[in-house]
Amino acid sequence: MTQSGKGRDGGTGPRIAGTIEGDMQPCWLCGRSVAGRALFCHACGAVQPPREGLDHFTRLGLECRFDIELEALNRQFTGLGRALDPDRFVARGKRQQEHARAQADALAEAYEMLRDPVRRARYLLDLSGAGPLENDPGEPADVTALRGELAAATDALTVDRLALDVEQRAEACIRELAMAFRAGLTATARRVVARLEELEDIAAEARTRRAALGPTP
Ligand SMILES: [Zn+2]
Repeated sequence: MTQSGKGRDGGTGPRIAGTIEGDMQPCWLCGRSVAGRALFCHACGAVQPPREGLDHFTRLGLECRFDIELEALNRQFTGLGRALDPDRFVARGKRQQEHARAQADALAEAYEMLRDPVRRARYLLDLSGAGPLENDPGEPADVTALRGELAAATDALTVDRLALDVEQRAEACIRELAMAFRAGLTATARRVVARLEELEDIAAEARTRRAALGPTP
């Protein structure tokens, strides 16, 4: 799985912006200073190209943390998207149209990453510079047991029951993750993310098995 960003990442150091605005840079059109996350220059109104290396939280005008409000995330994404509606830029020339499109793409990428709690957690761990799990304890016993039960299941009802069980365990993990991030326990957060990845894997397997078994009679 690739991490964020298709653009260059030329050794710009930590990507967490000092402020929610991001660093100032000159407007491509008039040269006045523009905040990193600003879509438009406040002086001339020109659409700015998406700033390289801006973290997804800052891009969406959110605080860089795990427990963001999904409502706020949706509101920001919708509002910013509206401001970038291509119809608005028809008269502004090709360059601004391209910038608007690129901004919309960057916002969509940020939104996709942040709205899913597991991806958001992984992204936050990347931002914090946390490497892969050290002393990987391996798969927990209950996960191994779930895999075994799923492999042995031959009827839809059993698969459905197992899928629900996995879903509830994943929900508990997400609550645990929120607490770990709040307390700054990066190692715990990493371990919970690893467990969530295992659970997601089993959930996907359960969906495949369920589809093969057909609808409940
Ligand atoms: Zn300008």
